[in-house]
Amino acid sequence: MSQLLKNYDLERLAISTVASHTALQILRGAKKYGFRTIAVARGEAVAQFYRQFPFIDEVWVGDFANFRKTAEKLAANNAVFIPHGSYVEYVGWRQALEAPVPTLGCRELLRCEADQFKKMSLLEKAGIPIPRIYKTAEEVEGPVIVKLFGAKGGRGYFVARDRRELAERLKRVTEDYIIQEYLFGVPAYYHYFSSPVYSRLEIFGADIRYESNVDGRTFGWAEPTFVVVGNLPMVLRESLLPTIYTYGVQFLKAVEEAVGCKLAGPFCLESIIKDDMSIVVFEFSGRIVAGTNIYMGYGSPYSVLYFDKPMDMGERIAHEIKEAVKRGKIEHLFT
Ligand code: AMP
Repeated sequence: MSQLLKNYDLERLAISTVASHTALQILRGAKKYGFRTIAVARGEAVAQFYRQFPFIDEVWVGDFANFRKTAEKLAANNAVFIPHGSYVEYVGWRQALEAPVPTLGCRELLRCEADQFKKMSLLEKAGIPIPRIYKTAEEVEGPVIVKLFGAKGGRGYFVARDRRELAERLKRVTEDYIIQEYLFGVPAYYHYFSSPVYSRLEIFGADIRYESNVDGRTFGWAEPTFVVVGNLPMVLRESLLPTIYTYGVQFLKAVEEAVGCKLAGPFCLESIIKDDMSIVVFEFSGRIVAGTNIYMGYGSPYSVLYFDKPMDMGERIAHEIKEAVKRGKIEHLFT
């Protein structure tokens, strides 16, 4: 990718992303920092919605089944690309890995993220506490959560109270899955920003997910399900921050050692905080998460700590790209 970037006119970069997920935040931030902006939509109806926003210069309808062509067109338009969860879902990790456009962050992580076991093993290598993983139902002690590999947005998970219930339910499962210890505590998701420009890791915000039916008024009558319907802002007990920061640093080190690239830009660790205040991480995202949308336009309380002004994640990304251009560090951001 650094070869591709060499042909770019860095003074006239465009910032592009797929029109979904966090695109409004990303492109609004990009425009605020003076970049040209491009949104790539899945169809004309979606494109129409995005065309109403003055901070988006161009809205294209992309070919997601054959994303290479769209990526080539982006590169021809001097655009760098910001990946997010919907992009990976639409094009699949294999296409995302190969799209010929400079992409923020560490693309190789996608391979690892596609496999729940590899994912957990990376967190383990980082020395971050993770839930127990069971290979078979027979080993199970206590409640578990079963995650089907094809699950999206929390749909396709189920919980089982014990070994017997688990064995019964697994009889109906045909796809790959992982069995994890069910952790008791409160969920908390940490938004980080890894900055090559300032050579530092920033804690940029936190959120909790609002999930049906676990957060719903079910009185224990409905099956617990984890379908994400929205996100809520969160401010953490300050005494938790040093540990959360340390886990972020350890994660970056593990990505560098195990995956072979320095992760730049936003990422997220997803955890349960137990009643003894210990933090157990059950998931990560190697790119911007939708939970950052709650701070669009006004920034999370943590963002003021770094720049003395509120900044949302879209603005933070644009700021980094702009500074990287000025300081000749642009190739540190993209793969
Ligand atoms: P995920 O798709 O992995 O982010 O998980 C969806 C939701 O399931 C999370 O937001 C948590 O509420 C819940 N969850 C996932 N893993 C665990 C676990 N090991 N223990 C308890 N809850 C979990």
